[in-house]
Amino acid sequence: MSSVDRARTVKREVRSQLLRWFDQHQRALPWRQTKDPYGVWVSEVMLQQTQVDRVVRYWTKFLARFPTVRSLADAELADVLSMWTGLGYYSRARNLHRAAQEVVAKFEAELPDSVDALLTLPGFGRYTAGAVASIAFELEAPLVDGNVARVFSRLLELDGAPGDRKRESALWEIAELLVTGPRPGDWNQSLMELGATVCVPQNPLCLLCPVRTSCSALASGRVDELPPPKKAAKRKRLEFAVAVAQRGDLVLLARREEKGLFGGLWELPAAPLDPGADADAALTTLLGARAVIGPELTVLERTLTHRDLFLRLHPVKVGVKLGKPPAGYLEWRWVPSAERPSLGMSSAMQSAIAEGVGEG
Ligand code: SF4
Repeated sequence: MSSVDRARTVKREVRSQLLRWFDQHQRALPWRQTKDPYGVWVSEVMLQQTQVDRVVRYWTKFLARFPTVRSLADAELADVLSMWTGLGYYSRARNLHRAAQEVVAKFEAELPDSVDALLTLPGFGRYTAGAVASIAFELEAPLVDGNVARVFSRLLELDGAPGDRKRESALWEIAELLVTGPRPGDWNQSLMELGATVCVPQNPLCLLCPVRTSCSALASGRVDELPPPKKAAKRKRLEFAVAVAQRGDLVLLARREEKGLFGGLWELPAAPLDPGADADAALTTLLGARAVIGPELTVLERTLTHRDLFLRLHPVKVGVKLGKPPAGYLEWRWVPSAERPSLGMSSAMQSAIAEGVGEG
């Protein structure tokens, strides 16, 4: 029997078992107290690649600062990024901001209640559209994320490694089949909740699992082998020469163009370095021939999702009066320490400032 056929067979039983369990055991999360589509949307964007505990703090602050789609659309991107500082994956914040502006322009500041319309907005993929449509609008819209994929893999003994095309399309077919029925939003959330708290990657808590009597992998003793591990993506090495220029309490910071890694964020001016390239030369090209580049202070290493980041910090002397911002930046200026926490900045750059400033 195929996994899709198995899903058809166990649908009724699994749906009622899991929804009952969700009613009793779901975690009390602030965005579960609202049906406001905007609040649901922000939570779903934040939850991608970020731990729930962290999101709870950020979501509450973000909604207090930008309580409506319109307030987010009207905000400066720099303010949005500053509220996102520490959450990482800043393209999510940039897309959220752009999408809010489109919602205002095209949909009278109300998120549209159809998957097709949601998919036209920046940052909306199948997952986010399915989450908002089902949770906020109670539409029978499927979704698959890492937690749901793991639950389906085990519950329905679905073979194939993450990323495998056949497996992906079977997962969506199963999600589509199972979401039809009462409470589609709660159904999707209960699946994700099961994957996050019971059917976890290592040592799942099968004894406590509400759907164990229907679980194929448990019956056949294959829980530990499903799903098979993801093939590790090749990691990229990213290296930058970073200028630490300071005058008393002031530090020279620049804001990146609004695209690519760290787009729109503030940072110490930085020049990309090819392996083995000379940091002095790269910083002179970035800052101009009159900049005086000192010897390397330290190298900061950070692990990002698919990249290893190396920041080579150099003390730099530049004139007080700044000309045009360097290539790749929208603006630059001398920033006092009291103002720095309000600027959108990556965690890596915050560490670079903590390490480099004061020693220059
Ligand atoms: S019985 Fe175990 S493997 Fe099966 S769905 Fe429940 S937690 Fe996952």
